[in-house]
Amino acid sequence: MKKVLLIGIDSLDPKLLLKFAADLPNFTRLRQVSPEMKLKSIFPPDSIPAWISIHTGLNPARHGLIYVFDIFESQWQDILNIDLDVFRGRTFWDYASNSGKKVCVFFPFVAFPPWQVNGIMISQAMSERRLDGGSPWQTEREIGTYPADAAAQFGISRFRRSVSGKHPGERNLKARTEEDQQVMLHRARLGLEISQSVEWDLFFIFFGSLDGIQHALWRYGDHNDPTYPGPNPLQDLIRESYKVLDRIVGEFMSLHPDVTTIVMSDHGHGMRPPVTVSINEFLRQRGFLFSKGHRLNPLPRAMEGLKRQVLDFVHQRELDYWLLKVSKMKLLSSASKDVYMSTASIDMERTVAYLSSFAGPKSYSHGGIEIKRENLNGIGYEELRDRLIEELANIEEPQTGEELMEWICRREELYSGPHISHFPDIVFELKEGYGVYWGIHTPLIGTAYEHNLASGGHKKDAVFLISGSSREPTTQEMGLMDVSPTILDLLGVEGEFGFDGASIFA
Ligand SMILES: [Zn+2]
Repeated sequence: MKKVLLIGIDSLDPKLLLKFAADLPNFTRLRQVSPEMKLKSIFPPDSIPAWISIHTGLNPARHGLIYVFDIFESQWQDILNIDLDVFRGRTFWDYASNSGKKVCVFFPFVAFPPWQVNGIMISQAMSERRLDGGSPWQTEREIGTYPADAAAQFGISRFRRSVSGKHPGERNLKARTEEDQQVMLHRARLGLEISQSVEWDLFFIFFGSLDGIQHALWRYGDHNDPTYPGPNPLQDLIRESYKVLDRIVGEFMSLHPDVTTIVMSDHGHGMRPPVTVSINEFLRQRGFLFSKGHRLNPLPRAMEGLKRQVLDFVHQRELDYWLLKVSKMKLLSSASKDVYMSTASIDMERTVAYLSSFAGPKSYSHGGIEIKRENLNGIGYEELRDRLIEELANIEEPQTGEELMEWICRREELYSGPHISHFPDIVFELKEGYGVYWGIHTPLIGTAYEHNLASGGHKKDAVFLISGSSREPTTQEMGLMDVSPTILDLLGVEGEFGFDGASIFA
């Protein structure tokens, strides 16, 4: 049985691997030898639910972690306060470990602090800490190891950042990205070194920095982005970051030529939808959602108008970073969230359906509708769901008559599991290029205000490249839940693990 080397890269995009192919000799060679696999992310394609599905082979309704990173969230600790028991001991490396395989696990996403395995597990805290003394911008993240003495044994040091804590405005983007690249190289050096000095059957290393790089820099390098500023000093930084990862992948593969190597991502990356669809306004016009405003109380309507004007002003003058900074101040954070999500002017006493914020207050194509059962007034829940699905399925661009809904269904048609109620009652995806918006008393079609701030967004197509296996996959399409069973299959580990996926070789 061959050893398995798994390199996980958050947000590595299959289309960009093609676009940059000439600059990525190692990815390109790997693509040429790999069977062509189409890997689809989960819904919603966000990093936490996606990696937990990769780690456990379970769909999000079974592991229940559908938290998302939220750029407007000042209370990071709440988001990061994830119950490790949901997946500790239930990952592919645990199952491999339990069956006697030697594992080396490096920085798996969200899996902190590390736990006991048959081998080594090193992981990093999600939150950055300001350092006492020195520059106020210096931060670092806590690292934990199993066994505890591995840190000393292998000289594992924390990476000290000096610009990540700075104002995230445009003038710091280059320095932040270069520092992100240093973080990847630092992590790779450590992994390469340990991969040579200890015995392993399964080696798993994760790189997370590419996601943030693409979120922040997308519009500087994509001529099709409506906010592309023209030739600029930031335009090649995404490509440069792919080149850094290409070198890292190349070094791992040349150091370990006789193993089965898998390089994969949790989702792809592309332009965040620049155009929004006001789902709440659509629901309001059809009598499913009610505004607090009426003839005797015009304030909510006026506030909505004012909000649009403020957001327009901010967007046109590229003051988004300023708004983000304001929103990170504790006192103002809930107020600014309301600016984006607009629940303040919705009358929740009467509303029966409204746009969910389960995937964060951002204009993604994927979204959901929450139904307020206590306001149904005799209408059946399923009857209402059917009606909403039917009406929303026919939502059209008012000018062109173009259909805006890619697909829409009941949550139970998406996944099944004990945590399905974490999902909104109805789930949907808009057509490419359109994202959701929460505002009411607005035109149906609008501008994505936070585009300047995070012009890159997650895409559902992910990367799965494999080399060094003599076995032929029996399928070309796979999901994230198929990764764990595939790895265990490659390692020859058998058992009843209750996966939602299956090995691509089975
Ligand atoms: Zn991700």
